[in-house]
Amino acid sequence: MTGEVYYPHKELFKNPVFKNMCEYKEMVEEFEKDYEGTWAKLAREKITWFEDFKQTLDESNAPFYKWFVGGKLNVTYQCIDRHLESKKNKAAIIWEGDNGENKTITYLELYREVNKFANLLKSLGVKKGDRVVIYMPMIPEAAFAMLACARIGAIHSVVFGGFSAEALKDRIIDAKAKVVITADGAFRKGAPYMLKPTVDKALEEIDFVEKVIVVERNNQDIEWTHRDVSYNELIQNQPDECTPEIMDSEDPLFLLYTSGSTGKPKGVQHSQAGYILWAQLTMEWVFDIKDNDTFWCTADIGWITGHTYIVYGPLAAGATTVMFEGVPTYPDAGRAWKMIENYKINQFYTAPTAIRLLHKIGADEPKKYDLSSLRILGTVGEPIDPAAWKWYYDVVGNGRCSIVDTWWQTETGGHMISPLPAATPFKPGSATFPLPGIFAEVIDENGNKMPAQEKGLLCITKPWPSMIRTIWGDPERFVKSYFSTAKKNGKPVYFSGDGAIYDEDGYIWITGRVDDVINVSGHRLGTAEIEDAIKYHPEVAEVAVVGKPDEIKGESVFAYIVLKNPENIAQELEFIKEVNEIIKKEIGAIAKVDNFAFVPGLPKTRSGKVMRRILRAIAKGEEITQDTSTLENPQVVEEIIAIVNSCG
Ligand code: ATP
Ligand code: MG
Repeated sequence: MTGEVYYPHKELFKNPVFKNMCEYKEMVEEFEKDYEGTWAKLAREKITWFEDFKQTLDESNAPFYKWFVGGKLNVTYQCIDRHLESKKNKAAIIWEGDNGENKTITYLELYREVNKFANLLKSLGVKKGDRVVIYMPMIPEAAFAMLACARIGAIHSVVFGGFSAEALKDRIIDAKAKVVITADGAFRKGAPYMLKPTVDKALEEIDFVEKVIVVERNNQDIEWTHRDVSYNELIQNQPDECTPEIMDSEDPLFLLYTSGSTGKPKGVQHSQAGYILWAQLTMEWVFDIKDNDTFWCTADIGWITGHTYIVYGPLAAGATTVMFEGVPTYPDAGRAWKMIENYKINQFYTAPTAIRLLHKIGADEPKKYDLSSLRILGTVGEPIDPAAWKWYYDVVGNGRCSIVDTWWQTETGGHMISPLPAATPFKPGSATFPLPGIFAEVIDENGNKMPAQEKGLLCITKPWPSMIRTIWGDPERFVKSYFSTAKKNGKPVYFSGDGAIYDEDGYIWITGRVDDVINVSGHRLGTAEIEDAIKYHPEVAEVAVVGKPDEIKGESVFAYIVLKNPENIAQELEFIKEVNEIIKKEIGAIAKVDNFAFVPGLPKTRSGKVMRRILRAIAKGEEITQDTSTLENPQVVEEIIAIVNSCG
């Protein structure tokens, strides 16, 4: 891992916060010299406080850290009210529906809608500290709902609209929600789909939910129960002024359950001030957001990426954010590129899984559109393999856009490791360096920094403002999950669960979860590394690698491969030989594939992450006992089991 180097095209950036690596290093040093002072300065500069904070960081009850103690603010004031003086007629949200219809919501309109929704919640008895579950399609009302909660100090917990009744029910119970906000349904690929029946099912045995607010979006028939109320009716009579609740810096802002790719989802709790500060700063630092920019993040608001980079970050920065109801493959493979052309998108942010899909269905499609407005292309969610990176860079970015490979987690609130678009030399597949103020380090359990090319634990060794505060209702699990693996100077530090490697230039390469390591004859191999190599084979669309117990080697490499064109593969063994040649070249013969299965798809979480724990169990011939409630395609598990069993 050292890789090719690409340099930012500086002419694309008029006045970036970091013009070069010297400026980056200066800021890093400023944090090293005066950690709390530098954070305090940024917090005072960026946040409109109702009342200044008294203490920057309270470590007295570590790891339950507190930031900007005693400060008073309201996140919606930061995201809306304070922009009204200079931007009331600026587009806050540009929404595009599945069928191509669109709607622009200005900052003034957003102000009114959020206040009306806030008043509606109040009229139903929702108070500061109450939990509100939001189970919504990608429509503007979903963002209004989140902000309305924040306006009155209620804690929202957005549950991805693709989740099953069972998964929704678990989350409603865990958060003990007073109100659920949903829609009848929405549209996907030209057809209506439903959400409300899922809510009905989830609530069958729950009595503590007092009201279900239903936004009528697709106007299909639904059942109305005793606790349902119609948003469309009730919103009419709400006043469009609602005084923002005065919130303490450390009051919870929202809960969000992790995607569950490694186990039972955790209810990650975020706070007000630290979260919004970092959401805004990373928009400015990583996305170089400028007043005239149009920013598009393709995530769903059910994920942290949607929270921070569709709603809170762009609005705190006073930017224009694009929200999209549909899928990038409908009506054809050019949908995303067409939207970029239409809205003259300047920053486009998506996941490697989407990049690979768009590549697979239309490698030359981006060339048919004018994508010259783009400056920055972002990626998040999993390691991006160099092959996908290069297509993104060459074809989508036309060899000129900066690629920001952002490493972060639900728990971190915003980006932690990422290139700075006008400053950092990029290496395909590396998230590069920690952002200033973020002490992300690759260390061993005792806090020693790993030498180059040796795998270690990716930790964040100082608390940071946007960090997780606790796991909702389970402070012990919080300490155990994140602060019990590694120490530095004798003090427990935040461990992300991911492994990483420094290269000779100090670049950080994420190798995936530490439990995604395969031990072949005493060699610890990252599954991501092997997968990246396999993906260089032109016939491979997707691959997941796990370890299979092996009497001699300890573990051997088992590859689940999705082919681009299965009919092209006449000789399976010949094909695997070719794959192993690539592995030999990229990693070494030690990592060669011993077992393989050609499968129709990989089991993925709703956020598009491969659930390797299921594939590990199948490779071992174990029964599947794990929680599969967060799987997008549970049926594929049966198909894979059948294929693996028939191979013997
Ligand atoms: P759970 O914690 O429940 O297993 P999850 O970790 O998949 O779920 P998220 O918080 O959505 O839930 O994902 C964060 C994880 O995604 C990171 O820990 C990392 O493994 C992976 N990830 C995110 N961005 C990147 C990136 N740029 N490069 C490599 N991996 C990434
Ligand atoms: Mg995680």
